[in-house]
Amino acid sequence: MPPGRYARLVRLDAIGEAGHRRMTSSHAVIVGCGALGTVVAELLARSGVGHLTLIDRDFVDLTNLQRQFLFDESDAAEAIPKVIAAERRLRAINSEIMITSVVDDLRPRRAAEMLGHPDVIIDGTDNFEARFLLNDYAVEHGIPWVYGAAVGTYGIAMPVLPGRTACFRCVFDAPPEGLQPTCETAGVLGPVTALIGSLQAGIALQILSGHTDAVRDMMTTADLWNGPMRERPKPERDPDCPCCSHREFDWLNGKHDTPVSLCGRNAVQIHSERGVIDLVALKARLEPEGTVRSNDFALRFLLAPHELTIFRDGRAIIHGTQDPAIARGLYAKWIGN
Ligand SMILES: [Zn+2]
Repeated sequence: MPPGRYARLVRLDAIGEAGHRRMTSSHAVIVGCGALGTVVAELLARSGVGHLTLIDRDFVDLTNLQRQFLFDESDAAEAIPKVIAAERRLRAINSEIMITSVVDDLRPRRAAEMLGHPDVIIDGTDNFEARFLLNDYAVEHGIPWVYGAAVGTYGIAMPVLPGRTACFRCVFDAPPEGLQPTCETAGVLGPVTALIGSLQAGIALQILSGHTDAVRDMMTTADLWNGPMRERPKPERDPDCPCCSHREFDWLNGKHDTPVSLCGRNAVQIHSERGVIDLVALKARLEPEGTVRSNDFALRFLLAPHELTIFRDGRAIIHGTQDPAIARGLYAKWIGN
């Protein structure tokens, strides 16, 4: 019999048959399917992790292709939701695993339903609010998670093992004040996101193969252009941490939740409780007013200088403004209340 697809992985002393068997019956949730999430998803899928859940609120556009794995020009041209495009590609890579994709924004109210009880959660998000929410959920349920971030030529990765290591809130007590540099404003180097995603995937495979003891409680930072690359011990657990010591889950309890959020790229996201939208009817209504493009998942309405992307669940991303009031006004005018 020729060697199986996992022969080179099983050959590793660190993993072996037993470790790999464990991986094949494990579940990883990847939150955010962009530059970090797609790298992690591809590496875990090729390794045979049994069940992957992909969560992302956004669709593929041309500016993603420079660094985001799994997507191609046709995905961008069709403005396919990222998780749908990723799932298609991953199924072609490995048809033996289970993939669940969720086109939605991770928010407190639906966190339990969306995240479930996986063996590991991987952070592929691009904002601190989402990370504090993930941290709350992971600490409450005792699920290991792996933080990752990259902007410019710099990136960082760090594991959080609830009950054993400092949690995210022990390390960063609150989201930073003011506007932070984003990949849109500061740019980002593809090799940095690939590096950080690979570090996250490596930590995830240690956990999923049953070798959590091998996870180093370190914060890895790298500036690929200017150096240095460094691995430093994380701080100790904070005995007064509101999250992991006092078990106050402020982000999960919705204390910081807002129905409108800035996407950090001249766009505002609007959440709506109005329920499922009939995109076909909406398309017919908007076509006389501007340019409309749609697929099965979303509709884009171009009315310069704004562009509205409306998802089936009523959520919308309004491009061309950073003013929530203007975004809400456009939503009310074109989609309804
Ligand atoms: Zn803590």
